[in-house]
Amino acid sequence: MLPVPRFGDGHRVLVTGGAGFVGSHLVDRLVARGCAVVAVDNFVTGSKENVAHLTDEPRFTLVEADISDGLPDHHPAVRQRFDAIMHLASPASPTDFATLPIEILRVGSLATLHLLDRAVADRARFIMASTSEAYGDPLVHPQPETYWGNVNPIGVRSVYDEAKRFAESATMAYHRYRGLDAGIVRIFNTYGPRMRPDDGRAIPTFISQALRGEPITVHGTGGQTRSICYVADLVTGIVALLDSTETGPINCGTEHELTMRELAEQIVQLVGSSSTINLVARSSDDPEMRRPDLTLARTRLGYQPTVDPQDGLRRTIAYFRQRLG
Ligand code: NAD
Repeated sequence: MLPVPRFGDGHRVLVTGGAGFVGSHLVDRLVARGCAVVAVDNFVTGSKENVAHLTDEPRFTLVEADISDGLPDHHPAVRQRFDAIMHLASPASPTDFATLPIEILRVGSLATLHLLDRAVADRARFIMASTSEAYGDPLVHPQPETYWGNVNPIGVRSVYDEAKRFAESATMAYHRYRGLDAGIVRIFNTYGPRMRPDDGRAIPTFISQALRGEPITVHGTGGQTRSICYVADLVTGIVALLDSTETGPINCGTEHELTMRELAEQIVQLVGSSSTINLVARSSDDPEMRRPDLTLARTRLGYQPTVDPQDGLRRTIAYFRQRLG
């Protein structure tokens, strides 16, 4: 049976990383449904601006705290029981892997454990935002959830990949041994408004470079692939998982796979830029290909992404155009 809305008016939901890119869009969707949402964020990669439009919204509370140190229980909005806890906090871009490695490990491990304990105490549904990086540089294509992955446990990307794999393991242990109602979503490359122009991920980087008329820096030969998902579609998938009783892990993204060179060329064309493509050295352990097998999301959650990639890219370009002036 496909999930029916389970969380809405009268339900309290905690979203960690709620001032981030994906988190802020998720907060919007939950508030629109009538949920009372508490976002906890330390703004390490997110920003108050992402949720500034909710300042006068009585159903929304923003609390500044580093959840790796534990939940800020001194705050009255955090002390009250939650019906659902959604853990999205984590720096997520490849440049963060080098600048915030310990922070990433802490938020994937310590923060996850704090939140799992709280979810058990509150008898809340717990959603863990995991990643396609759990598959590492995959040897199976496309990637079904049954694939265990190919991760270098000591490589530069491992702080992120292994922190998320630990978080998945911890979530499953709390589900198995503490009776936690939990769901794990493995998110594939998602893009849209509210990404940081300088965050190092391909789409914001290419758009910012194209808008400035600078060369587009494509890593390696540009032949490596990603499957890109517009944030509204991803949020629909995450909310469907929240409503369901599925544990997962469940992949979420799209099957729209393209090479980095194709992506760069499309962005240059959509921006109407004169930027050229500049091939630069590829970072180590950079995955060669990425495409989710979405069978589980489709059959268990009724998930079907609907945003046309050209349309999603246009909307993202419009956001960056405005932001970069
Ligand atoms: P983001 O950096 O925009 O958002 C992360 C948010 O978490 C930020 O607001 C940041 O300030 C906050 N945060 C980080 N550490 C924190 C801490 N210790 N305490 C409190 N807040 C903290 O990144 P995003 O793209 O929105 O990613 C959101 C989640 O989705 C992450 O968990 C990420 O791993 C996962 N994910 C995203 C993608 C994607 O393509 N965007 C892909 C796979 C997984």
